[in-house]
Amino acid sequence: MQYKAFIGIGSNLGTPAENCEKAIRLLHAPPEIEVVARSSLYESEPVGKIEQNWFVNTTVAIKTSLGPEALLNAIFKIERDLGRKRRKKWGPRIIDLDLLAYGDRVIHSTALTVPHPEMAKRRFVLLPLSEFAGDYMHPVENKTIHTLLKELPESPQVRKILSTS
Ligand code: ATP
Ligand code: CA
Ligand code: CA
Repeated sequence: MQYKAFIGIGSNLGTPAENCEKAIRLLHAPPEIEVVARSSLYESEPVGKIEQNWFVNTTVAIKTSLGPEALLNAIFKIERDLGRKRRKKWGPRIIDLDLLAYGDRVIHSTALTVPHPEMAKRRFVLLPLSEFAGDYMHPVENKTIHTLLKELPESPQVRKILSTS
């Protein structure tokens, strides 16, 4: 388990908080992946022009022996297992898992851009990540998660969910 990676999780269909928890449980399943940290759940205002429900978001840190492409495929499998069908970009979804960062690697292939191209601009990613990775240095922006977060505007809104019961 030599590589460390961050994964972003989001859902705004069905029971979003439960879907995020299920995704974290499924990440524990493959022997090549070890979940080493997770953040609280957050609710976030949808971004973009599509009218849709608020999202529930969280992030996890994993250790893995999988390379980035294999890890992306493992993530796709979890999305399929949780019933994700349509792949409309930025539309409503039962579950979305994004590979946010893979160590300090910078990757631009047809299938994969790492760090995730929107990561540095998204409060719903940076805020949960700041719970365990505030000092992580973004290898393209050359700024920490804490600094990127401070530089973001206040909206769209992201709020920590205090209780899911
Ligand atoms: P966004 O990527 O802006 O969050 P999205 O999650 O709605 O939008 P999807 O429809 O889930 O986008 O994914 C579109 C494609 O993005 C996938 O088929 C995948 O190959 C590609 N992709 C490229 N880089 C990444 C990454 N770092 N993590 C996840 N998918 C990625
Ligand atoms: Ca996404
Ligand atoms: Ca995605």
